[in-house]
Amino acid sequence: MELYKQPAHTLHDMLVKREITSTELTRAFLNRIEQTDADIHSYITTIAEKALDMAKSADEKISSGESVSFLTGLPGAIKDNICTLGVKTTCASKMLENFIPPYNAAVMEKINHMDAVILGKTNMDEFAMGGSTENSAFFPTHNPYDTDCVPGGSSGGSAAAVAGGLAAWAIGSDTGGSIRQPASFCGIVGLKPTYGRVSRYGLVAYASSLDQVGPLTRDVTDCANILNVIAGYDSMDSTSINEPVPDYTKALIKDVRGLKIGLPAEYFVDGMDEEVIRAIHAAVADFKAMGAQIVEISLPYTKYAIAAYYLVASAEAATNLSRYDGVSYGSRVSGEDIVAMMTNTRTEKFGNEVKRRIMIGNYALSAGYYDAYYLKALKLRTLVKEDYDKAFEKVDVILAPTAPTPAFKIGSIINDPLQMYLQDACTVPLNLAGLPGISLPCGFSKAGLPIGMQIIGKPLAEETIIKTAFTYEQSKDFHKMFAGVIE
Ligand code: GLN
Repeated sequence: MELYKQPAHTLHDMLVKREITSTELTRAFLNRIEQTDADIHSYITTIAEKALDMAKSADEKISSGESVSFLTGLPGAIKDNICTLGVKTTCASKMLENFIPPYNAAVMEKINHMDAVILGKTNMDEFAMGGSTENSAFFPTHNPYDTDCVPGGSSGGSAAAVAGGLAAWAIGSDTGGSIRQPASFCGIVGLKPTYGRVSRYGLVAYASSLDQVGPLTRDVTDCANILNVIAGYDSMDSTSINEPVPDYTKALIKDVRGLKIGLPAEYFVDGMDEEVIRAIHAAVADFKAMGAQIVEISLPYTKYAIAAYYLVASAEAATNLSRYDGVSYGSRVSGEDIVAMMTNTRTEKFGNEVKRRIMIGNYALSAGYYDAYYLKALKLRTLVKEDYDKAFEKVDVILAPTAPTPAFKIGSIINDPLQMYLQDACTVPLNLAGLPGISLPCGFSKAGLPIGMQIIGKPLAEETIIKTAFTYEQSKDFHKMFAGVIE
């Protein structure tokens, strides 16, 4: 049995039954990384020695008979915008290429507390700005289903690592789709929790009112188990929700009878790939056959979501990224005076997409334009949220495509920012409204590329979307596929 192809819960069972040790498992993943990451480029940094130390202490824990957690001894990967004490956290930017955080993000504290094994830090679009991982300052990541294609982004390294068997689970972040869209492109499961459900403390800020941390996994069972670990209140994040965390694995039930599923016409956007539309309609028919009720709904403000998102996200990014001044921390490029030093640092160390966002953001926030752009975007944000509020009076969940197309070719739209932004049509509205959403595979294109669907819930309704996703997943074989092959 190839260990790297198994979902994390299968590996967890094997560890608990002592059929394998965490050291063996960790070595299997490290070998896999050595053999395949030259083609995939999912990691920026690997920490083999530290990983083997973590595996050793997990093995000691397991053999001592102490109670173990889901993650004990399970090798996973962390997006490189999540601070890891003593391990480089670059955000795939030259600005932070030598940044070694002196503290752990809140999610890392929780994960470490569970005795997980960390294999390394994964590639991403610089500062999480992008949808293809091509904006990494270091190298693009390749899709394990077709290495000529992007893995999606910005958590492309995390998604490719899980899909390609280079990690048993991974953590990503989602500001406008960065967990769900790469999950969709790589044929795996990705969940963006309700805004505030998972602490953002130690997540390098992109757009603070939209950012959320979440899991990328091989199946829905793993997703529920990892959400159990990372969810919960944190006094270090002022937007953290102080509500009890349910046991999400209790939602792993096959039952959608009587569930009202909303199908929003506006999510089938212009230019959407025919194969994506067909796959979603097939899933709708499957849900109906399993006893769910399909309700046509309308979310009319969806068409403004991309414009509103790119204004709000860029405005917040411009503000958040002003801290990279060559003084406090991060890289510095010298200059004859302080202004020249700051100018040189920011000119040389930020990539083009990051600079574009800073310029759009500062423009939208500047006197004279604030009302016309930023304030208007905030008003639209409220209208998008009200659309959902009304829809959720009638339905329990909303079903939609995750992305308008399957994975596209590396290089094909990178020079066309508008095309790239349009990729986010189905994912950004949730971030604007703070809602939870899960992406899971629902088919394949003729070219053999995965297609994902998104299940959207009310605030804090992660259990409902997990149950809906699990019911569908278990009725199909997509979660058993490994880069195109059923195992
Ligand atoms: N593609 C979107 C952007 O570039 C979303 C990125 C994200 O969720 N981090 O902003």
